[in-house]
Order: sequence, then C-alpha cells, then structure tokens
Amino acid sequence: MEHQENRRDFLRKMGAGSLVLPMLNKAVQKPEYTGKPLGIALVGLGYYALNKILPAVDESPFWKLTGIVTGTPSKIPDLQKKYGLKDKNILNYDNYDQLKDCPEIDAVYVCLPNGMHAEYSIRAAQAGKHVITEKPMANTPEECEAMIRAAEENRVKLAVGYRCHFEPFNLKLMEYGREKTFGEIDYIHSMFAWRAGNPEMWRLNKKLAGGGAMLDVGIYCINAARYIKGLEPVAVTAHYSPIRDKEMFKEVEDGISWQMDFPDGSYFTGFTSYSTNVEKLDVRAKNGWIEMSPAFSYGPIKGNTSKGPMNEKVVFHQTYQMNAMGPMFLEGGTVADHCSGYEGLRDMKIIAAIYESANDAGKKVRL
Ligand code: NDP
Repeated sequence: MEHQENRRDFLRKMGAGSLVLPMLNKAVQKPEYTGKPLGIALVGLGYYALNKILPAVDESPFWKLTGIVTGTPSKIPDLQKKYGLKDKNILNYDNYDQLKDCPEIDAVYVCLPNGMHAEYSIRAAQAGKHVITEKPMANTPEECEAMIRAAEENRVKLAVGYRCHFEPFNLKLMEYGREKTFGEIDYIHSMFAWRAGNPEMWRLNKKLAGGGAMLDVGIYCINAARYIKGLEPVAVTAHYSPIRDKEMFKEVEDGISWQMDFPDGSYFTGFTSYSTNVEKLDVRAKNGWIEMSPAFSYGPIKGNTSKGPMNEKVVFHQTYQMNAMGPMFLEGGTVADHCSGYEGLRDMKIIAAIYESANDAGKKVRL
C-alpha cells in the first residue's frame, strides 16, 4: 500500500503520461524513486541481456530482476544465486506461458534473436506481462502489428529498446533538429557497419535475423534521420552492396546503400554493411553542420558542430533507458510514443520498403 502511494507520488512529480517526446531530465539521470520496483524477467541470456540490460536493471531503482527465461540450463545457477530467483520464475522457451503464474514478474525484456521477438512478446502479453523488446522490433511490419494488437488486447504495455532516445548526444541532436539551431536541415548522411567474422552467427540466418546489416545496425541510421528531421520519409530507393563472401551471405544481405526523401525536399543517404567498420552521422543545415562519430554505439559517442564541439555527458545508455522507461511502466504511466510499438512499426515499414526497392534494382518505393 505504501509502495503504491510512492509510485503515484513519483508519477505525479514526473508528469508521467505526458512523456511524449524524448527528454533528459534529472529523474532519468538520478531518479529519487523509493517505491516498489517492477519485477522484470530477461528473455534470452546472451550478450546484450547480460552485459547491457542486466547492469542497467541493477542500477535503476525502478526495476528488479525477478525472473529469467533461457534455453541454456548452465546459465541458471549463478544468476539464481546472485538474485535469489525463485525456481518457478526460471523458465525456458517451452514452458514460457507459465509466466502467467509468476506474479513477481511484471514485465519481460526480450533479448532474443530478432526473428523470435514477435512470438515471445505476444506470448508474454497473453500471459498478462508488459513487454520491452529489443530492436529491431521484429522481422516484418506484419509481426510488429501483431505484437501491438496482442499488447492492446491483453491491456499490457509494449516498448522497444531504442536506447539512443535516452542518450545525451542523440537527445542533443533531436534538440538541434527541433529548434533549428543550425537552420533548416538540407541533408543527412549516416553509415553504420561492422565487419562480421563469425559465419555461424544467428545474424546470418534469415529466419532468426529477418535480414542482414540493415536490421542489425542500418536501423539506427533510419531512426536517427527521423528523429533529427522530426518528419517521416515519403519515398525510398535502395541498392544491395556487392557480396563479399558468397558462402557467408547465402541468406541475408551483406550491405545496402539507400536514400530516403523527406516531404520538405530534404533527403538522407545511408550505408550499412557487415563487411567494413564505420559509424558516422553527418547533418548539413542552412547555417551549419553537425557530425558525430561514433554516433550510436557505446562509443564513447563524440560530436562536433560548426559552432564547436558537443560536450554532452558520456553515460551507460541502458541505465538511462531503464530509468526513463520505469515511470512509463509503473501503474498509471504510459509508454511514450517515441519508444512504443508504433515507433518500431514505423521503422519496420521503412525497412520493408528499402528491401522492396533493393529487390527491384533501386525502384523508387513510396511510403
Ligand atoms: P546473442 O546471440 O548474444 O544472444 C541471444 C540469446 O538468445 C542467446 O544467448 C540465447 O540465450 C537466446 N536464443 C534462443 N534461441 C536462440 C537461437 N536459435 N539462436 C541464438 N540464440 C538464441 O545476441 P545479442 O544479445 O547480441 O542480441 C539479442 C537482441 O538484442 C537482438 O535482437 C539484437 O538486435 C539486440 N541487440 C541490441 C543492441 C542495442 O544496442 N540495442 C546491441 C546488441 C544486440 P539462452 O542461451 O539464454 O537461451
């Protein structure tokens, strides 16, 4: 009861429910929350879950690890001991639906290969659990729509782990765009690529990954172009890169370069690939420019502008994300549109159009 009151007071102070735009406030950097934390279960105990989300859960007062879902029993004992997890809150992919009988688990965080996001988000929603799923939201727009439907029908909340929306450099970029600090933006260019060496990784399997570098890291460039411009693209054109290794890239693309046209006549060009290392964002505006490199990864992110360097705070992105998402998931809170299932769907529709264009020799596809 006392916890419930604390939650309500905190939400009132935060103005939760009106968190429409990404914002970096004191409560995200250092929340003063003393209410009952939300119980969260990590689904899939791989690199991202264990090295990025779990430390953020540990750090954030809003969340407490109360469950795990894994197909690898050897990952259980250490975590069970460290977090005092109850046996009934330790599930695998077959008995996952027993989530419905786990009252200590309020939400799941899906850190599985992309092709499993839809199924495990939908099954969690059907078990009455809130869902945060990693990017890309799913493999296709149809899967995203099914996830949104499942969340709405089961009256649970659904968010996508767009961590850059809570990261100070990227938040500054959004502000530059919104306030036209450098004037109207004419052109944005972004590249995000990494050299993949492991031919066994799930990221090369079409069913598990949905696609190649575009779904893995190209999505950051698309999302950034949208949040800097504050506009949705109206058309795309795209071309596949030459394939470096025909054995390795049998199922998914190696790279893509693409263009997105905005309704105000400005445009974006991007490049993503599994065959080289690059991570850059370049924004050209009427009265100046912004450059960031690294722009999206754990960096540390660095930025420069025609008015001088960007001096934003270097932070652990996922802690800021979990601190910002906490109030959205507390009773009475609302998932902000910019990290909702609808935002994940917007990116996936653009990605589907990019593939449609690349599959048709660069034909212009209207959105
Ligand atoms: P990993 O391969 O490291 O982990 C995935 C985990 O999923 C595995 O460890 C395994 O956990 C579980 N799993 C279940 N079935 C399979 C299967 N058939 N093949 C492989 N793994 C399976 O991947 P990442 O942690 O790098 O990526 C997970 C998700 O997080 C992806 O959607 C990715 O896009 C996203 N991501 C986001 C990042 C960001 O910065 N926002 C950065 C990195 C990844 P278990 O053994 O417990 O069953």
